[in-house]
Amino acid sequence: MASSIWSWLALAFAALLLPAVGTVLWLLRQRGGLRRQVPALAHDAEALNDRLWSLADSEERYRSLIEAQGDLIVRRDGARVVYANRAYAALFGAGEQDLVGSEMLLPQLASRPVLLLEGGARSFDECLATYEGERWISWVETAVPGPGGRTLIQRVGRDISARIASEDALVEARARAEAANEAKSRFLATVSHEFRTPLNGILGMADLLTDTGPDAEQATYVAALRTSGEALLALVDDILDFAKVEAGKLELVEEPFDMVQLVETVAELMAPRAQAKGLELAAHIAPALPARLVGDRDRLRQVLLNLVGNAVKFTEAGGVGLSLARVGERLEITVADTGPGIPADRLDVIFGEFEQLDHGGAAGQAGTGLGLAIVRRLARLMGGEVRAESRFGEGATFRVTLPLVAALDAPEARIPHWSQHHVLLVSPAPFAVRFLAETIRATGASVSIAGTAEVARAKLAGDNPVTAVLVDHALGDAPAKELAAAAAAAGIRACLILLSPHARRQFGSPQEAGFSGFLIKPVRTRSLYERLGSGLETGPSVVDEPAARAATQARLPGAGLTVLVAEDNEINALLAMRTLERCGCTAIWARDGREALRRVEASFAGAAQPLALALLDVRMPMMTGLDCARAIRALEKRLGRAAMLPLVAVTANVSAADRAAAFAAGMDDCLAKPLEREALLRWLERLSQSAAGSLSA
Ligand code: ADP
Repeated sequence: MASSIWSWLALAFAALLLPAVGTVLWLLRQRGGLRRQVPALAHDAEALNDRLWSLADSEERYRSLIEAQGDLIVRRDGARVVYANRAYAALFGAGEQDLVGSEMLLPQLASRPVLLLEGGARSFDECLATYEGERWISWVETAVPGPGGRTLIQRVGRDISARIASEDALVEARARAEAANEAKSRFLATVSHEFRTPLNGILGMADLLTDTGPDAEQATYVAALRTSGEALLALVDDILDFAKVEAGKLELVEEPFDMVQLVETVAELMAPRAQAKGLELAAHIAPALPARLVGDRDRLRQVLLNLVGNAVKFTEAGGVGLSLARVGERLEITVADTGPGIPADRLDVIFGEFEQLDHGGAAGQAGTGLGLAIVRRLARLMGGEVRAESRFGEGATFRVTLPLVAALDAPEARIPHWSQHHVLLVSPAPFAVRFLAETIRATGASVSIAGTAEVARAKLAGDNPVTAVLVDHALGDAPAKELAAAAAAAGIRACLILLSPHARRQFGSPQEAGFSGFLIKPVRTRSLYERLGSGLETGPSVVDEPAARAATQARLPGAGLTVLVAEDNEINALLAMRTLERCGCTAIWARDGREALRRVEASFAGAAQPLALALLDVRMPMMTGLDCARAIRALEKRLGRAAMLPLVAVTANVSAADRAAAFAAGMDDCLAKPLEREALLRWLERLSQSAAGSLSA
């Protein structure tokens, strides 16, 4: 029993003691571990310390970097500043800490629109009244997270005052330069305008002098006077045009016009100059082009005349081709020549003002160097462009592209159908041959081209039977006539000869020379179609237009009409009066508007000869032409006159606005100075007809 107690006690003792011993042993072990860990902890603490130092250091470096940038930084919580850097605080003349907690703002003097940047940032420039004076600051504003989940607004700004100041200076300098340029252009426009009046006087007088029957020597002097006067007038016109375009004074009109007629008149106007140099001048309008376009016909004519004029001026052998085609929605005008060409590095330069190339001192190449500058400006004004292509020594090509607007009333192009025909074209002229061939091919006919009489004869004898032949007189008189005979022998009845107006005068009867008819170069498309299409039987010659005009003039359209000329410039008045007298009129001169009004009153009162027409110069002393017209209309109303006296304004400026002003003042027409003879003739004819009508009635 005693042994069992002892064993129980031993057990109980063991049960109590063992955990305590375990704890003691565990503690002893931990103590050993801690002793080993202390140096590691000390090491960590040191490392942390180092990190803190380096953080503080890098924060300082970061801060000094920001300050060194000069950028302005401010963070606000609502309106309250929570952070401001030194540069920002300096705007207030304060320290960074002075601003923190405040709601200070600088007065805004000006601002520019806000731009939204990617990521939600905003950017704007503002001018602030700062402690250091007015400053333009360019800000970028962003939202940044703040403590406690709040959103702060951070602005980073840069002082752009210097940039703004230089921008302002630039704008001011530009405005000054533009004003000076405009003044220069205005001056040029005024001066060249003033030049025109006396120059027209000189030219007109030279004309009158020619009519007085001078002897041969005097005639030479008068011709020289005219040539120099015309050259000077062309120069003045160039300068005036240029000045007008420069000053933005050029008003473009948008009116339907006949493109074919425009091109043909330009070609016919320049042809004598080309033919006098032995050059071929040909024009071609692609059949697909609408015959009537909308635009400014007169400005387009100016572009064409400048380009074709240059091509004729600089080309010594070969020819000049003017062609128009449709390229997409644009009109493409091409003026090509076989002249000296333009070096590649000058192709753009020549469009600058007063730029001229040295073509080796060729005679008769005087100019202003403004023509192409005007062409480029006009082309751009019309919404287009012009460029030059050339290989030096191989001719030049100028291409103008313009927006193409077809007139609503454009008639369908009338192209005959000649698919059965085979036309043989015989010409050494490169442009004319190509253009004529295209015009004929548009009808469906086949075309063979021969550059010489031998080739032509071979084609006539070939397998493809020829139904019509066109022979260019440039081939030579004898070869051309021999070809006509060869064509007749081959049974071809349609054989036309192409003649220059000069050759036409010397050629004699085309029929006698074996041809069925002739065409005048540059050939008009319509004439070509008509001549070839009429079956090329006998047919009369093409109407000789100058002769027809001369016949018209011979009738003296102004016979029996009294015309009042109100003009303050003596020479202009003399010119107008002589022109009228040569048309058979009686001319009466009034030196100013008031005198003109008196003359009209006298004629209305029956105290003087009744007037058929009054030409009123717009710019006159005492009373302007417009005031005079208004006074005449008022007088007619007062007197209850049924018939109104035809009034024609005469002015050096015939812009749309000038015309409108003339019509508003009661004028019936507006003519340009120097007085357009043709327009005057039209008026006289109309008046003669109505006078004849009223007599017979
Ligand atoms: P201008 O003809 O009055 O000299 P432009 O401005 O019309 O002035 O032309 C400038 C220059 O460009 C000319 O002087 C000439 O050297 C050159 N040029 C113009 N057209 C041609 C051309 N078709 N062929 C060769 N050179 C040309």
